[in-house]
Amino acid sequence: MRALLFAANWKMHIGPQEARTYLSTFLGQYSERPDRQVWFFPPAVSLEAVATIVAKRPDLLAGAQDIYWEPKGAYTGAISGPLAAQAGARATLIGHSERRHVFGETYEQTGKKLAAAVRAGLHPVLCVGETLAQRDAGETLTVVTRQLEAAFGARVEVQATVAYEPVWAIGTGRNATPQDAALVHQAIRGWLNDRQAGETRILYGGSVNVKNASQLLAERELDGVLVGGASLDPKIWAELVRTAAT
Ligand code: PEP
Repeated sequence: MRALLFAANWKMHIGPQEARTYLSTFLGQYSERPDRQVWFFPPAVSLEAVATIVAKRPDLLAGAQDIYWEPKGAYTGAISGPLAAQAGARATLIGHSERRHVFGETYEQTGKKLAAAVRAGLHPVLCVGETLAQRDAGETLTVVTRQLEAAFGARVEVQATVAYEPVWAIGTGRNATPQDAALVHQAIRGWLNDRQAGETRILYGGSVNVKNASQLLAERELDGVLVGGASLDPKIWAELVRTAAT
């Protein structure tokens, strides 16, 4: 059976109180299915609330949106892998395009963060993707390959998930066609296979919604989706997870 992963990135939305209300609605509208997992990436302040609730369902999981690479210390405002794990996280996003482009995260830093995630026992979800200018210059595969190399380094044996998220498609309402996404997914899979990586799921992200999710997931190269905007309303998110690719 093809197992799909639906990952919700709440970005800087949904505090702890709102998260409890959100999950009560979501759980009422989405029953466990053997062919899909749903992962939530709430803001750090809501992590424990989400993790505590989703712990009751084996198909659900909570993760951090970002971690710092040091385990502890004088790093005001940052959270480490061990602290996220203590709050109940079992995974973490690494190198989301907003971390790279709003906060100036470098390729080198994604490598440190991926290693820190592994040390803390968190499943890394590495986000890669090109800007519009890079796409127009025909550099998509070069950029994505550089991002993979910088983040994984010699650690391709680690259990991880990769999310291909073209920057021009995130939060813009524009999404890649299933064929566009498939070409990049094949290149990522090829890169991983060349390095004897373990089973690695490759998600697509970028303006995925209830209307286009099934069409995208009909492309077998996609093992799931990473969704921002359309995951913020629990009823819409439940509908997307329930109806996509059935
Ligand atoms: C994201 O945050 O990773 C994302 C893909 O956002 P959106 O679905 O809003 O484009």
